[in-house]
Order: sequence, then C-alpha cells, then structure tokens
Amino acid sequence: MIIETFITSPFQQNTRVLACPETRRAVCLDPGDSARKIADYIRRNDFELQAMTLTHAHLDHIGGVSDLHAIYPQAEILLHKDDEELYYGLPEQPLFMGIPRQQLKALGLEYDVPPPLTRYWRDGEIYAVGNLNFKILHSPGHTPGHIVLAEEQLRKVFGGDCLFAGSIGRTDLPGGDYEQLINSINEKILPLGDDLILYSGHGENTTVGRERQTNPFLTGAYQMSG
Ligand SMILES: [Zn+2]
Ligand SMILES: [Zn+2]
Repeated sequence: MIIETFITSPFQQNTRVLACPETRRAVCLDPGDSARKIADYIRRNDFELQAMTLTHAHLDHIGGVSDLHAIYPQAEILLHKDDEELYYGLPEQPLFMGIPRQQLKALGLEYDVPPPLTRYWRDGEIYAVGNLNFKILHSPGHTPGHIVLAEEQLRKVFGGDCLFAGSIGRTDLPGGDYEQLINSINEKILPLGDDLILYSGHGENTTVGRERQTNPFLTGAYQMSG
C-alpha cells in the first residue's frame, strides 16, 4: 500500500492518500483541507481517486471535502450514518468548540455545508480499493459514528481519533462518550493484534501492541476523575 500523509488544518490532522500500487486506485482518508495539494499529488502519481473515506465528521477531518469534491466530483463520499448530523452541521462546528464567530475567517474555519454523502459505512463491511481490502469497524465514543479501517492482510489500521500514541480521542465534544470510546478500543482495535501499525488522525504512528502495553488510558494508569 502506498501511504502519503498531509498534515492539514490548524489542528494538525493527518490527511492520507492510500493507494493500491498495482491498480493505482486510491482513496483520500479524512481530507482536512489542502485539496489542491492532495489533487496535485494524486495527479502526479497517476492515481484514480475512487472515494473520500471519512473516519468521522469533525471539521479537521472533513474541512477539505467540498474542495476535493469540486476537483473529483465522481469520487464517493463515505461516512457512518451516526455522524451525519455533524457532517452537515460543519459550518457550526467551530462554534461548538468555543471559537467566536468573528474569528472564523482569520483562522480559516469558515465552511459551507459539504456535498451530499454517497452512502453510509456499514459496520463489518469490507471496502476494496484495487487489491487493498479495508475492514470497516464502527468505533463510537469520540463521535457517535466514528469508524476505523483495518487492512488485516497488510497489518495496518487507520484509527482516526480513537487512539493515539500515548493518548486517546477527546470525549468532551457533542456526542462524545468516554466509556464507549474505551469499549470501542478494547473490542474493535486491540483484538486486531499487537503487530498492527496504527496510523492515527493526529501525531506519530505507533503499534496496537505498544498502546495496549503503555497507553495510560488502557493500562489503568489514568483513571477518569468524577
Ligand atoms: Zn475528531
Ligand atoms: Zn481530529
């Protein structure tokens, strides 16, 4: 699998292009912004963009969907149904995060309503990109409709904002649920196997095993207060 990372948005989100080297078919995982840069990369490498695959609908993961859709109108846009409200509510999201309306423009956080979704992810479906096969696992907690994509044959998982190197996703935004997030990590991500490389929505890559053994939110070293 060819994996190219673009760090996007003021939130330093890891947007990725994932491509099948044999068929040149590709998806853009979580386009946070920088659509033109991403499209240039896709063109230079002669990839065929088949979809924008969204782990969840926070603005730092979907802020570039409109612009990329304008360049690739035939590419599917895939999201879990439980994040639909967040998706179409994109223009209001910065306000929920406490950013004053008058600062949106200066911060580059002024958004239109994004284009219609093509269809919803189904939990457990296998999504093929050329010879790559991603298993889609519904992993709520950070948001209600968060999913992770696991390429089990190649031993890689794209975890969005569920699990990070040394940390976990925040659960204090609307729809977040701490217990649910820990359950999702324990029931969906950890059983994939210690050797899987975890590519997260923010920060460095890690492995499932390293997080299982050392992440303070999983070892019990960190206890939620209150
Ligand atoms: Zn998020
Ligand atoms: Zn994020």
